Amino acid sequence: AHLDRIAAVDGSVKAFLHVDRETTLAQARAVDERRAAGEELGPLAGVPIAHKDVFTTADMPTTAGSKILEGWRPPYDATVTSRLRQAGLVILGKTNMDEFAMGSSTENSAYFVSRNPWDLERVPGGSSGGSSAAVAAYEAPLSTGTDTGGSIRQPAAVTGIVGMKPTYGGSSRYGVIAFASSLDTPGPFARNVLDAALLHEAFSGHDVMDSTSVDQAVPPVVEAARRADVNGLRVGVVKEFAGDGYQAGVSARFNEAVELLESLGAKVVEVSCPNFSYALPAYYLIAPSECSSNLARFDAMRYGLRVGDDGSRSAEEVMALTRAEGFGPEVKRRIMLGTYALSSGYYDAYYGKAQQVRTLIKRDFEAAFEQVDVLVSPTTPTTAFPIGERADDPIAMYLADLCTIPANLTGNAAISVPCGLSDGLPVGLQIMAPVLGDDRVYRVGAAVER
Ligand code: GLN
Repeated sequence: AHLDRIAAVDGSVKAFLHVDRETTLAQARAVDERRAAGEELGPLAGVPIAHKDVFTTADMPTTAGSKILEGWRPPYDATVTSRLRQAGLVILGKTNMDEFAMGSSTENSAYFVSRNPWDLERVPGGSSGGSSAAVAAYEAPLSTGTDTGGSIRQPAAVTGIVGMKPTYGGSSRYGVIAFASSLDTPGPFARNVLDAALLHEAFSGHDVMDSTSVDQAVPPVVEAARRADVNGLRVGVVKEFAGDGYQAGVSARFNEAVELLESLGAKVVEVSCPNFSYALPAYYLIAPSECSSNLARFDAMRYGLRVGDDGSRSAEEVMALTRAEGFGPEVKRRIMLGTYALSSGYYDAYYGKAQQVRTLIKRDFEAAFEQVDVLVSPTTPTTAFPIGERADDPIAMYLADLCTIPANLTGNAAISVPCGLSDGLPVGLQIMAPVLGDDRVYRVGAAVER
């Protein structure tokens, strides 16, 4: 049914980079056989899923939205992919994304722009915009994404679905094509909070293949989503994430969500996190710095594209020609910024300073969580913007992640849940919790989702 739905609507939604009916149906038959053989399968066995094209898949291509990986067939599954395969989920295909997850709209995909199912002239958010569009358009009941600065929560917010960024290290990065390794976090998309929790539980937990994986039990997220109450919980409204720059309808829906929390028995207080205002500039030094290092591996020798290798050129020349042709403008901009910020003489002034800001933001979170159990804010300052509106203005594009970036810099758990419409377009409520407090955001999210 989902393959038929994809065939019917994906020509206009354009969520998928790769769909392969035969491979999907073969996977589904294999799950049936495992079940028939008496194997104990998890609660999501047989449920179809779409994977962001940043997770390696042994039976499907993986491009990270880049021309430099066009046609690449990974020799192995990411841990997220293999755990979900083991749990019996069936892969519908690979979803579109901003190249190497750099962007907030999917307009930086080297292939095409995905569309917001609520209004096809608007973006579905990004960088995991294919995954959010697929779930919002009922092409898939579940999908995966990665969140480095907001790339799960922001697309979830603007397409009216649930998207969760787990605690950093709570989900494995093994087999996830790297953008910024200290920030990248795989997480779930779903149409309601309980579905997201079931998916979260199915792929999370310690992984020896990822040295930054947290060696602790997965927080009880499914139990928390089922509990869905906020009675007696202390909720902090982040004072800095309001005012000018927030669309009136976004502020109105956010205030209603806060009133709803209060009416359900939560104790709401205003909390100041003064250093959150510096999160965006710090992120745009740290993420490009890490990406300039991570993307050095695309050297025309090991993967994908190779340009100009006709025997007359040196390896360096082939490398330069390949990277010039294979990377898009936003990726090049970030490599330039990151290489500059890390160069000797500038390192302390830029990268070092940004890391200090990161510590200040961590202290803001710690101080806040001495007073409250969760923090709330709008997920993103505006609803889905029209395709093209911010494409030539990187700073305007970067502002989409204003509210989501603090939790990435510190590794905290955070979710976006739908909280109503503004001018017919979805608005997201962000709920943030301490590191390893993932269950709390599910508990509160399930109580207030609409
Ligand atoms: N929009 C942010 C960026 O462009 C975040 C992307 C992400 O979370 N992958 O870097």
